[in-house]
Amino acid sequence: MRKKIVAANWKMNLTKKEALYIYDKLEEIQLEENQEVIVFSPYVFLDALKQRQHHIKVGAQNFHPAAQGAYTGKVSINHLLDLEIECVLVGHSERRILFNESDEVIKLKIDVAVNNKLETIFCCGEPLEIREQGKHSSYVLQQMESNLFHLTPEQMKSIIIAYEPVWAIGTGKTATAQQAEEMHRFIRMSIEHRYGKATAENISILYGGSCNPGNAAELFACENIDGGLIGGASLNAEDFTKIIQAQ
Ligand code: PEP
Repeated sequence: MRKKIVAANWKMNLTKKEALYIYDKLEEIQLEENQEVIVFSPYVFLDALKQRQHHIKVGAQNFHPAAQGAYTGKVSINHLLDLEIECVLVGHSERRILFNESDEVIKLKIDVAVNNKLETIFCCGEPLEIREQGKHSSYVLQQMESNLFHLTPEQMKSIIIAYEPVWAIGTGKTATAQQAEEMHRFIRMSIEHRYGKATAENISILYGGSCNPGNAAELFACENIDGGLIGGASLNAEDFTKIIQAQ
C-alpha cells in the first residue's frame, strides 16, 4: 500500500520560535500507519527540530551536490546526514526558475540523494503558458525523462513525486481536482510504462499549488493523489493540521 504524505515547505519563512511551535503542535496529531508528515524547514532550524525527536519527519529544502569543499555558503548532503535528516526536496520550481537549476543539476542532486538513501521529493509541473497551449502532459513527461527516469527500479523506491503546476504555486489559484487527478494519472501511467505496474502503484504522488484547508479533502479524495506539498498554508499550525486531517 502506498504512503499518504503531507509535507510542509516552509521556504524562507518563520522564526525559530514559530518553527518549533508549529512542529510541536504537529506532534499532537495521531497518524495512521501508512500516513507520513514531513516538514521541509530552513537549514537553520533543522538541528533544533531534530533534537525534539518527534515522529514528524524533518527534511531539507535544498543541498549542494558536492560532498564537501570550497563552496562558500552551501550545505552538503553530508551535513544533512550528520543531522539525521531523512528527506530532501529536489526540482522545486522556485529553484528551477529563481536559481536557474538546470535539468543536469537536478538529475545530479537526485542521484546524490537517492544514493544516500534519503527520501526524495521530486517536483515537476508546467508553467501557465504550457498549460494554455495544452502541452502540460508532454512537458511533465520531459521533466521526468530528463531528471528521473535514469534511476533503477530499486532507486525509484526512494522517490516521491510532487506535481506542482507553476501557475498554482503561491497564487491562490488551485488546479481543480479533475485537472490534478488527470495529471497524477498521467504521471503514474508514465512510470508504469517505464518501470512496470508494481513501481507505479507503490510511488506516492503529491499535489502542490495553493492547497488549503478548504480544497484539500476534494484533492486528496482523488484516486491518484496521495497527499500534498503545502507552502503558504503550512505556516499556520491550525491550517496545516486541517490539511493533514483531510486525508
Ligand atoms: C510549494 O511551494 O511547493 C507550494 C505548493 O506552495 P503554495 O502551497 O503556497 O502554493
